[in-house]
Amino acid sequence: MEYAALVDVYDRLAATDSTDGKRDCLAEVFADAGPLLGRLVTLARGRLSPAYDRTELGVSSSLTLDAIRRATGATESAVRDRWQATGDLGDAAAWAAEHGGQQTLFSEPLTVERVHDTLRDLADFEGTGSQDRKVDAVAGLLADADPDEARYVVRTALGHLRVGVGEGTIRDAIAVAFLDGSADAVDAVERAYQVTTDFRVVAETAREAGVDGLAALDVEPGRPVQVMLAEKSESPAGAVADAAADGTAVCEYKYDGVRIQIHVDGDDVWLFTRRLEEVTDQFPDVVSAVRAGVEADRAILDGELVGYAPGTVATDARDPVAFQTLSRRIKRETDVEALAREIPAVVHLFDCLATDETRLESPLSDRRQRCSDVVDPVTPAPDEPRAGLELARSRRVAVDDPDAAASFYREALDAGHEGLMVKNPAATYQPGRRVGRLLKVKPTMEPLDLVVTRATYSEGRRSEWLGRLYLGCYDPDADAFREVGRLSTGYTDDELAALTDRLEDLVTARDGRDVELRPEVVLEVEYEEIQRSPEYGSGYALRFPRFLGVREDVAPTDADSVGRVESLYEGQ
Ligand code: ATP
Repeated sequence: MEYAALVDVYDRLAATDSTDGKRDCLAEVFADAGPLLGRLVTLARGRLSPAYDRTELGVSSSLTLDAIRRATGATESAVRDRWQATGDLGDAAAWAAEHGGQQTLFSEPLTVERVHDTLRDLADFEGTGSQDRKVDAVAGLLADADPDEARYVVRTALGHLRVGVGEGTIRDAIAVAFLDGSADAVDAVERAYQVTTDFRVVAETAREAGVDGLAALDVEPGRPVQVMLAEKSESPAGAVADAAADGTAVCEYKYDGVRIQIHVDGDDVWLFTRRLEEVTDQFPDVVSAVRAGVEADRAILDGELVGYAPGTVATDARDPVAFQTLSRRIKRETDVEALAREIPAVVHLFDCLATDETRLESPLSDRRQRCSDVVDPVTPAPDEPRAGLELARSRRVAVDDPDAAASFYREALDAGHEGLMVKNPAATYQPGRRVGRLLKVKPTMEPLDLVVTRATYSEGRRSEWLGRLYLGCYDPDADAFREVGRLSTGYTDDELAALTDRLEDLVTARDGRDVELRPEVVLEVEYEEIQRSPEYGSGYALRFPRFLGVREDVAPTDADSVGRVESLYEGQ
């Protein structure tokens, strides 16, 4: 397929406001895709691999700028001016391809396959000279691109397609292309995606084997599963009333750490965060504990990874460290062994999605039993801790009366944990869903996770730092971020300096002291109140927002949604 045909599709998607229109447009493309289906399904969202594969292409704006300059003959300052004027390096590339003045003597039309594979392979370039080779590869594509093609090659290389296609649209398009498009068909595609997290597998299965094939798709060690999510409840008693089956609910500590999915297949171990990012290399201590402690050839376990003050891990009074401290272990710092000693981690296991076979359809009580069966029985529960053991079960009680839940809640808070999880013991595991069978109770008004969309340099003493950050909540229908306020307090100088370093890598356009950013950094923000506001795209504004920290474990599209802000506003 010629890349020009895909570019037409991108233009149509960008020009279509309705999600049904986008769905139908993509369904047509998928139905005719033949052997390119896998590639087209990821390219439709400007990606080159499934969502969980976070291999970075390592293509920065400045590398792309160099490639544009080299391929088109346009000067760097001309491309920069254009970039600044439109805020999009893709548009600047289109302009350069048209006006750059370079004559290509030998031009080979771009194909979808060539663009996809060339960009995907950039991630493998490593070591000395790799930057130059990347520039060459991108410039090679741009040299053969017409202006419209250049726009999308650049946007795909930078990971920001700007055609407004969310995961829901891909799901619906697959249901229309290969099934009957009904609500049942959409559900079948959705479930298949939640267990595989790979639209390539889902689309190909829908095409080859229909609804039955999708239903047969299963979790597999090594391929992260979307985690089951919790709903908020106002009180322990209310949560128990909602979650009880036959009068009994399971209460567990709500640990304040990082959700971790542990996958085991023989000697292979993988760790994934809730945003399905692989963090195996960052936790060698946990990996060895899993190798030593999990007695199953294949398993997928779910738990919360918590950091504890080093001297306290082996005592009765374990002292959990703040989430921000733990998140140092998630970032790719080099000395992982030293960090493991400084911030020892314990995984509190609470679920088992698969052992030798899938357990998603089993009730929680069975899955929990499986969890205990496959983890070495000498591993103590957290109330009988022992040094050097990184796997523990989450502390839990079965309750049938509200007072017991309330006192367990107090116990959890007194031990320094975040609150209470209340679970229905008969519930199946529902990947990616908030279905009310998993409830959380926390003491305060919940902070929001929001994405930094643009920023302004501060004045005065902090003038080198991006101290005013515009925050967006996610609009899943449009796959866009709607602003909900501006943040300028709560950070220390060090935090602000570090944040500025990160945000400066994401700048897409500058205008004086204002910068536009790729929406990639998620912040946890507390606030006093939500107000209606015509000033921001979401229609709401946070009153007195304060920075709490960076949420390394939350993907931008998992940030709080416009709908969530709306319902918090209603509930105030
Ligand atoms: P929050 O910010 O409140 O953690 P969230 O949006 O990150 O919310 P939710 O699914 O709404 O995630 O809240 C549940 C989270 O609590 C889980 O994802 C998990 O990371 C964590 N957690 C801590 N302890 C437990 C436990 N015992 N059982 C289940 N989840 C737990």
